Amino acid sequence: MSDLLSSLNPSQQEAVLHFEGPALVVAGAGSGKTRTVVHRIAYLLRERRVYPAEILAVTFTNKAAGEMKERLEKMVGRPARDLWVSTFHAAAVRILRTYGEYVGLRPGFVIYDEDDQNTLLKEVLKELELEAKPGPFRAMIDRIKNRGAGLAEYMREAPDFIGGVPKDAAAEVYRKYQSGLRMQGALDFNDLLLLTIELFEQHPEVLHKVQQRARFIHVDEYQDTNPVQYKLTRLLAGERPNLMVVGDPDQSIYGFRSADINNILDFTKDYPGARVIRLEENYRSSSSILRVANAVIEKNALRLEKVLRPTRPGGEPVRLYRAPNAREEAAFVAREIVKLGNFQQIAVLYRTNAQSRLLEEHLRRANVPVRLVGAVGFFERREIKDLLAYGRVAVNPADSINLRRIVNTPPRGIGATTVSRLVEHAQKTGTTVFEAFRVAEQVISRPQQVQAFVRLLDELIEAAFESGPTAFFQRVLEQTGFREALKQEPDGEDRLQNVEELLRAAQDWEEEEGGSLSDFLDSVALTAKAEEPQGDAPAEAVTLMTLHNAKGLEFPTVFLVGLEENLLPHRNSLHRLEDLEEERRLFYVGITRAQERLYLSYAEERETYGKREYTRPSRFLEDIPQDLLKEVGAFGDSEVRVLPQARPEPKPRTQLAEFKGGEKVRHPKFGSGTVVAAMGGEVTVMFPGVGLKRLAVKFAGLERL
Ligand code: ATP
Ligand code: MG
Repeated sequence: MSDLLSSLNPSQQEAVLHFEGPALVVAGAGSGKTRTVVHRIAYLLRERRVYPAEILAVTFTNKAAGEMKERLEKMVGRPARDLWVSTFHAAAVRILRTYGEYVGLRPGFVIYDEDDQNTLLKEVLKELELEAKPGPFRAMIDRIKNRGAGLAEYMREAPDFIGGVPKDAAAEVYRKYQSGLRMQGALDFNDLLLLTIELFEQHPEVLHKVQQRARFIHVDEYQDTNPVQYKLTRLLAGERPNLMVVGDPDQSIYGFRSADINNILDFTKDYPGARVIRLEENYRSSSSILRVANAVIEKNALRLEKVLRPTRPGGEPVRLYRAPNAREEAAFVAREIVKLGNFQQIAVLYRTNAQSRLLEEHLRRANVPVRLVGAVGFFERREIKDLLAYGRVAVNPADSINLRRIVNTPPRGIGATTVSRLVEHAQKTGTTVFEAFRVAEQVISRPQQVQAFVRLLDELIEAAFESGPTAFFQRVLEQTGFREALKQEPDGEDRLQNVEELLRAAQDWEEEEGGSLSDFLDSVALTAKAEEPQGDAPAEAVTLMTLHNAKGLEFPTVFLVGLEENLLPHRNSLHRLEDLEEERRLFYVGITRAQERLYLSYAEERETYGKREYTRPSRFLEDIPQDLLKEVGAFGDSEVRVLPQARPEPKPRTQLAEFKGGEKVRHPKFGSGTVVAAMGGEVTVMFPGVGLKRLAVKFAGLERL
């Protein structure tokens, strides 16, 4: 038997041996889905003689793509380099860089991140004379684009006010934002996918060409695809889909970003005749950990039953620590980590980024090196954005947002009044801001500084063609006095180090990937916070990250902290069963990251928004049978306490309006059911065999179970 098969179980082998036609691998966490995809690709190459240039694999992060490629290179050698392994967004960029002109894209288009989106939105709001913050509009834009439904459809269901302004005005914000992007040759993240779809729909011949490059398609983490990604997959797969998707509905955790769990649940309807393969053995976690995971996820009502058996022995018990407050919780985590050693094998996972500060503080105090994933994004730091802005303007001088960012950074005596007069001139004459800069002498009386700036940019534009990113940024640093200006700042040293880190990142990228400045900027734009360079973190460091970022990963030891009501489940998710269950899945994702050792903890007191609050332990802890947990004291195993039952809530017979999604209740006529939503004095309850009922709490006579 091929060595590609011998290290797999029979179901995994079935997936690897599957050749043409659609297939769905649906299985729980740690059952080897990702590993199966890797082996299948290797098998296609080695045994089926498929060309690497015919295989596409879509992963959830660029990092996952990099790892997959690396593993394949080890397995099949050189040909792995010609595989197309990427995220949806990176795939879209590649397609648009080649064929974007078919849908009116300029070759040098740039990709706007959140920060750029905000800047553009602020301008739009100002232009429309609306007093509002950009945040809610960005959220609106994301929602419209994630669903791929378009403005009109969104507006039909939208609330009357968005971000404090009437929805007609909000629609105008959207339109202006879109035309702003177009004018500047910029796309936001979601546009990448939408435009690719447009391209495929309008130009079947282009789609056909890309399909040749993607004869065998794989999508990992399929449960978290949104409607737009779903559509893109369908288009790529075409009439004769050789499409293998793998995923786990129990790990769908991006519903809040319009990911649609139905994409995986309906796969066999969308692709009739699809082969369905289930993997039922877990290879990752000790059986104690797996039993906890299974006990938790079983409590979800909206779920397909699934089997997940351990293959590994019992191992250490799952530990639970109840801390008097959040500081003590962090101190506990730090103490245990010091005892354990082997820092790179440890991850601390939490629900919200704000929780990282205390943990980081205590770990640093205990001299434990920390790798903090995704907090203030490296590429979002001001000095980094400034430098990158030079690059963006050099490849696309129409990008006024970034042009204005660098016009006086470092200071070169071009004042705000000068800039706004030039911007006005651009608007009046319908040209780009850079064009207006070029004719500064017609607009302002003392154009010398602006003219010098234009000359600098012309040189940089040329440099962008001639040199790679490292040389380009070096040149910017040399020619603009960027370094000297930073040195004058109070935290200049740190910022300078970041600048050095950017140069290093650019150099690494040139060695590993190689390409032009524009390619480098694409790769930066596509890099998620979870994948950024961590120049200051030593290899031997504890990883700190949110549960969302931990998807797909595994660590020998995991600390899952802050298991409290309002945190996990998050306070925004308490009113709808769907949201609550997504939180439970998030908990499940967290538990199943652990291979050998799992610590759960919560604090009885925590500061939230600067206010100290008493907390209640997460309801999800009650899902875990007591005998699966071992409660430990502040000093770990050395001080064992008997587990007190997670303090039960007093259960008043009927209390007005206090019902929560997910709660079990009994109605005198309809029997027992589950609360799906609760709003004001009304609850919606799902009664099995009866259906959904909307009831007035006051009169319904509901009893909590
Ligand atoms: P997740 O749902 O978290 O993404 P997954 O289903 O993708 O998990 P993998 O990450 O592929 O699971 O595998 C989990 C672990 O189990 C990995 O360390 C992998 O190498 C190992 N593994 C998978 N299948 C086998 C097998 N047949 N024999 C031994 N180890 C295996
Ligand atoms: Mg996986």
